Amino acid sequence: MLKKLLIVYAGGTIGMSQTAVGLAPCQDFSKLLTAKIKTSNYKNLIEFKIQPLTPLLDSANTCQIQWKQIADLLAENYTKYDGFIILHGTDTMSYTASMLSFMLNPLSKPVIFTGAQLPVNNPKTDGWRNIFGSIACAIDGNIKEVGLFFDGFLFRANRTTKVDTLGYRAFSSPNFPELGTYQDNKLVLNSNYLLRNEPDYITNKNFDLFCSSQQLVHIVYIYPGIDETWINQALDSNIKAIIFLTLGSGNVPQLSKSLLKKIATLANTNRMIINISQCFKGKTDQSIYGVSSSLIDNGVVDMTDITLEAAFCKLHYLYSRYNRLIDIKNFIKTPIAGEFSIA
Ligand code: ASP
Repeated sequence: MLKKLLIVYAGGTIGMSQTAVGLAPCQDFSKLLTAKIKTSNYKNLIEFKIQPLTPLLDSANTCQIQWKQIADLLAENYTKYDGFIILHGTDTMSYTASMLSFMLNPLSKPVIFTGAQLPVNNPKTDGWRNIFGSIACAIDGNIKEVGLFFDGFLFRANRTTKVDTLGYRAFSSPNFPELGTYQDNKLVLNSNYLLRNEPDYITNKNFDLFCSSQQLVHIVYIYPGIDETWINQALDSNIKAIIFLTLGSGNVPQLSKSLLKKIATLANTNRMIINISQCFKGKTDQSIYGVSSSLIDNGVVDMTDITLEAAFCKLHYLYSRYNRLIDIKNFIKTPIAGEFSIA
């Protein structure tokens, strides 16, 4: 039986053309893609619909509005298709894909993000091979999660981060193994690492499509000699959640007593302050060094090996979904879609 695929075209380099101001998304891509699939090895295997979003975006412009738009679209069409592909710019693909992993949970079908470093009208494009690899993933009945396919690798999307501005291997999953590889038109899955959602009871009714259009999360980058004024400014704002992007295993320069007291007060009044490392690989552990151990007593939450992208989206999702701090605190430390490792 033919597998049914919905291909959402959100924008990104993959379908861009040169304009007077540089590369920008272009409508013609949908026609090109239709023709390409209809002459490919998949022509007798799939039935597909391409759904371009309005407007098509460079993903630098993608934000909470598009996260909601894509999640709603997939939820509406969930029962009609066997799998979903999202063609998206690489710059913020890990954010959008992470957010969808929380909103479309639990999944019983594959939702695969992909894009390209070079547009399909460039002879050196990686676009077609990324699309065909994604189709292989999207018609595989074993994948029941949001994946990100790029340069031959299928990753759990909420474990990924963009690591190369130009090279074909644009994404990495530093703290979780790849879910599969695609070579010579063959997808090989690492079944041990796939999420195992029970397909039978899952419908689109199970999804929590909450995504506020407001700014709920702010990131404070910790650097050597940082003046506490900058941290104070973030704490004084109305923002719901703050990520301390810290040094090494979660370290910050020694903070003053007054700042620690302020952090503790906020952490008890419906605000979350979490700790994530600037390091590409590994995890935070605030108990290792004296400089950061005071954060534990004052309510800063160690987020271990989660990526910045997944943490940002998880906080946004939780504050969109729940009102009570107790729920947010509970869910932040419980994986929703495999976004961090449990020790
Ligand atoms: N600026 C582009 C985007 O994220 C980059 C890409 O797609 O690779 O939309």
